[in-house]
Order: sequence, then structure tokens, then C-alpha cells
Amino acid sequence: MTRRTPPTAQQWYDETRARIAATGYRPAPWTGWPTWPFEGEVTQRGLQPPVAERPRGGEGGGDCFICAAAADPGSDYVVWRDDVAMLGQPQEDVALPFVAFLMPRRHADLSGLQPGEAARMGELMPLVERAVTDTLDVPRVQVLRYGDGEEHLHWWVLARPTGVAQLRGSFLPMWDDLLPARPREGSRADLLAVARRLAELAGGEVHEEARIEQA
Ligand SMILES: [Zn+2]
Repeated sequence: MTRRTPPTAQQWYDETRARIAATGYRPAPWTGWPTWPFEGEVTQRGLQPPVAERPRGGEGGGDCFICAAAADPGSDYVVWRDDVAMLGQPQEDVALPFVAFLMPRRHADLSGLQPGEAARMGELMPLVERAVTDTLDVPRVQVLRYGDGEEHLHWWVLARPTGVAQLRGSFLPMWDDLLPARPREGSRADLLAVARRLAELAGGEVHEEARIEQA
């Protein structure tokens, strides 16, 4: 039995361009969704051909800002850690009730995790959600991993306020970018409260005393 060879990126692009030429783009349903953040018509951008992958931040563990922040006792980046994992605060200010990153302490991407690291992060994910929902007025968390920016694995963990139905679903990160940011003192205090609850549920230590960056 001969196995079919999956298309290369260039073949995928060529085939997709041919489909676009034949039928046009599919009509995206989003503009009719109540969660879509915008009014009015949107215009599809042309699909660009594949290019060389650009290196990600901190590639190979050199010049990794996550590793550097984790090793700097004066940084406010890490709010909770155990031997394997850490919870970090975004460097940008946020609008949502909760935005954090769950990361391995060691520089590794998803497929580079050791089995023990992967197992611990698997244990921690539900405990992080429980710590968030025990502490804040949110129904649950969203968990995302894009992996296109920094190489050091960082799961995005985000939550919207309970009942704010307009923020449900896949546009939540977009809403976080669009809504005015909360004062950092408030979002950090909430994050530390979650970190203290996480320490009760999962062990580890809370990193309380780091400075708060002033704008
Ligand atoms: Zn790193």
C-alpha cells in the first residue's frame, strides 16, 4: 500500500490559491456574532505565500526574556512557582479580570518538555482554573498556546467576568487588547490572590514582594 504524501507548505498554498480563484473566500460568520468586537464590513486580506520561518524570541534559550525574568529576584514577572513550573504576569497591562502565563521554569517549548515536566503542567492546569474561579468573579478560564512569538512555552490563561457574554469565545484576547487597561496595582493584587490560592491547592511558593513597575 502506498501512502499519500502530505502537501508541502508551497503545495498547500498553491492549492488554496487555486480554490480562492475558483470560489473566493468563504463568508466569515463572525460579523454576525454578538462576540465580534467590531461594527461594519470587513475586507479579507490576500493570502501571502510561505516565507522562511523567522526565529522566535529566546530561540535556543539564549537571550530569553522569560528565563531572565524568572532568574531576576527583583522582577515582578513571576508570581508563583514550584520546582517545575511558574505563573507569570504579562508585561503589558491588561483589561480582563485575569491574564497570566503558565510556563515551565526550564527553557523548553511544548514538544521539548520532559515527561515529568509535562505531567506536572497537566496537573497544574486544572488547579490554576480552580484557583482563579475560587478567587475571582469569573466562570472559567480560557487556555491558549500560540507558540509563534517566544520559544519558551507559555500557556495563556485568561478569564472574562461572569455573565459578560459578549466576551465569550475566541475573541477574548482581542477584547483584552481593545478595552482600556486596568491599573496594574489592581490586576497584580488579583493575580497574587489567585497565586496564594494556587499555593494552597498545588504547593509551591508565591512571589509577593517584587516591585510594581510604574509607567
Ligand atoms: Zn527561556
